[in-house]
Amino acid sequence: MSYRPLLSQFESSDELLTLLPQQVWLLSEELKPLYVDAEMLAACGLSMEQLAQLGWPAALHPDDVTLLLQAFDQQTGELSLDYRWRQADGSYRWVLARARRVPGERPAWLGTHTDIDQRKSSELALQDSDSLWKLALESSGDGVWDWYVQAGIELYSRRCLQIYGYDEGDVQPTPEEFDARTHPDDLAQMQRDREDHFSGRASSYRNEHRILCKDGSWKWVLSRGMVISRDDEGRPLRMVGTHTDITARRTHEALVWHQSRHDALTGLPNRTLLRERLEAELRERSAQPQPRPMAVLFVDLDHFKEVNDTLGHDAGDALLLQAAERIQASLGPRDAVGRMGGDEFTVLLGEVSSRTEAEQMAQQLIDSLARAFTLGHERVFVSASVGISLFPEHGQQIETLFKHADQALYVSKGAGRNRYSHFTPELQQAAQMRMRLATDLRSALPDGQLFLHYQPIVRLSDGSVSMAEALLRWQHPSLGDISPAVFIPIAESTGQILQIGAWVFNTAQAQAEAWRRSLRADFQISVNTSPVEFRAPDRGARNGLASSSGALKWLNACLQVDAVSLEITEGLLLDNEPAVAQQLSSLRTAGIQISLDDFGTGYSSLAYLQQHSIDVIKIDKSFVNGIGPGSTGLALCKAIIAMAHEMGLRVVAEGVETELQASLLLKAGCDYGQGYWFSKALPAEALAQWLLQRDVAR
Ligand code: C2E
Ligand code: MG
Ligand code: MG
Repeated sequence: MSYRPLLSQFESSDELLTLLPQQVWLLSEELKPLYVDAEMLAACGLSMEQLAQLGWPAALHPDDVTLLLQAFDQQTGELSLDYRWRQADGSYRWVLARARRVPGERPAWLGTHTDIDQRKSSELALQDSDSLWKLALESSGDGVWDWYVQAGIELYSRRCLQIYGYDEGDVQPTPEEFDARTHPDDLAQMQRDREDHFSGRASSYRNEHRILCKDGSWKWVLSRGMVISRDDEGRPLRMVGTHTDITARRTHEALVWHQSRHDALTGLPNRTLLRERLEAELRERSAQPQPRPMAVLFVDLDHFKEVNDTLGHDAGDALLLQAAERIQASLGPRDAVGRMGGDEFTVLLGEVSSRTEAEQMAQQLIDSLARAFTLGHERVFVSASVGISLFPEHGQQIETLFKHADQALYVSKGAGRNRYSHFTPELQQAAQMRMRLATDLRSALPDGQLFLHYQPIVRLSDGSVSMAEALLRWQHPSLGDISPAVFIPIAESTGQILQIGAWVFNTAQAQAEAWRRSLRADFQISVNTSPVEFRAPDRGARNGLASSSGALKWLNACLQVDAVSLEITEGLLLDNEPAVAQQLSSLRTAGIQISLDDFGTGYSSLAYLQQHSIDVIKIDKSFVNGIGPGSTGLALCKAIIAMAHEMGLRVVAEGVETELQASLLLKAGCDYGQGYWFSKALPAEALAQWLLQRDVAR
């Protein structure tokens, strides 16, 4: 197809050129205009001659002239450049000048102007608004960065550099500059977060990392940003964002983290941190085909409570601190210790290859804790009990290992403290049994499986009986008789002792009243109490045993306050708790007599006897057991009896099994005897029978 007919419509090529959206011009190499199209001349209000005389640069905005001259100088033969072109009214419009050098005898530049004034103005306005929002962001104290992703240019605002102490010349405008100053531990996550946003998985970018300051310190920064333009394939072109200095917040968080995971007194890891460490350790080891063994040691200081009570809490704290230091000093680099609370520590031995090695470590710990502690002017001795469980032999999970170490510790304590014990399957069985009993015990009371037996307490001088001790019995439906020595501790640990104790008290009281009517007007039944009943949480003095057992309620309704007396243990007095002392004294003021049970097995402090008004002490059967003529056991009993009488207390000897014991105790001045020699604990009717027969026989 030929364009000739089309072209023939136009009278001249000039007319053709005016139809182009561009303006066309021709310049000599000296930048002298040779040809300028009519429209362009009209726009600038100059004739061809005038323009030729003035020269090309004269029609440009003075600020753009240098740029123009440089562009022509570049010798590439091509030119593309924005500049402002003068208008007839003296204003300027932005044009895009494009030209090509036409070689020849007299080379020249053939070029066009395209009016880009509108685009350029909006671009400039945008640049203005760019600086506006950057300014706005900076005023919040944040630094601003502006990243031309594909061009590899990143501009940092002044504030952005200031945060880290850099001056403008210190950091080149490339993204690598800050990447290189990012903490190596934080870099990978930062790049992952960035990639997530680049790929569109995250709608914006957000990461906290550390950046190296000019002075060599690190600052925590929250970096947030967003891609604001992408190319046709969705790849990011430009991304803008901010840096917020969060060093103060992170420092505070680190402090809180540290405090929440360390024991304030000793600075050791606390339960939480130790568990986290052990969990991580177990995860790592369990992943190995042949897990490397490790040991968990529960360490419990023996007699810490006594130190705390007698020397005060400051001394107790000092002791714990020194104990913590000694334990730490015994450990290797792969071991760890944490304070679990009170006087309990947990040790993780990371490098034990055998049970013997764990035992050696345990013994070492025990030895180090057995040495004297100097607390102010006092020298104090405590010992330690240790329970050991081994990974993976005794358990693979943290719960199991802890439970088993605890069971082993329980054995060490039961076996007389100051020793270590291992977890064994038998322990596990015993623990399971305890759990079963705890469950079954719940239905024991409502199902009528609990009842009381009564053991007479005999006046040694004349063999008369006006007292008996109520002893609890549990007839288990399938396991048969279960000793109170077994189930009372369980009831204590589950809290069921509160209901059971109340039931015992009420039952014994009813029985005592009945016997007062049928047997002797002064008959008295003593009832055992558990320390737990006095210490029940949230009960306070008023709501403690005094009312839980119904004692005070009953006292209000009944005049025979001395029909029931209470037996307490030394452990209760050791506590030194005001609430306990208060309850004891209110019971006593109400007229209830108090006996101190199992005397001689605990701390046996005379101070306690003086502090708390006690009526009767019951010498433990382990003393009575060993008495023979001239024995130390007898000497001890004599001393206790003399001392008790001195303080106005009466004395009961427990566990009297032979006639000889009874007569020796009588000679020693003991007031009462209780034991198989006289009678076992009997059901109520049987005891009544026994008493009647005895009265008849006497
Ligand atoms: P306990 O209060 O020291 O009671 C004396 C224990 O010694 C009783 O054991 C009794 O049967 C036993 N016994 C009595 N005479 C002799 C003897 O001549 N030789 C020997 N070897 N033992 C003798 P039982 O009934 O097994 O009670 C054990 C412990 O359980 C009691 O020791 C007491 O601490 C506790 N207990 C019993 N009933 C209750 C109760 O109702 N409440 C509380 N909290 N504890 C109770
Ligand atoms: Mg008793
Ligand atoms: Mg006793």
